[in-house]
Amino acid sequence: MSAQLKQQFTQRIVELQKRIDNIHQDFADGRPADWSEQASERENDEVLNALESEAKVEIQLLSNAITRIDNGHYGYCQTCGDTINPARLAVQPAAIKCINCAD
Ligand SMILES: [Zn+2]
Repeated sequence: MSAQLKQQFTQRIVELQKRIDNIHQDFADGRPADWSEQASERENDEVLNALESEAKVEIQLLSNAITRIDNGHYGYCQTCGDTINPARLAVQPAAIKCINCAD
């Protein structure tokens, strides 16, 4: 099970990395000619920046999950040490806390 999960997480990281590369590509390409208003350009940059930070946070979470799979801590709450409910893990595969300890 853990090998499969690891593969799933790794694949997701690759996808996220591609998304970040695409965002950088968008920045490098500049704007389409009809995007004349600076305000909307700036908004677009903000959206791209937000998407990039989101992707980076997720990559971090997934990397941590892979580390925890390797050291046998995956699926256990980082705070109280209890097992994390499988239903919770199904929704949030990179969850590090049980439902009681999560914010
Ligand atoms: Zn807990």
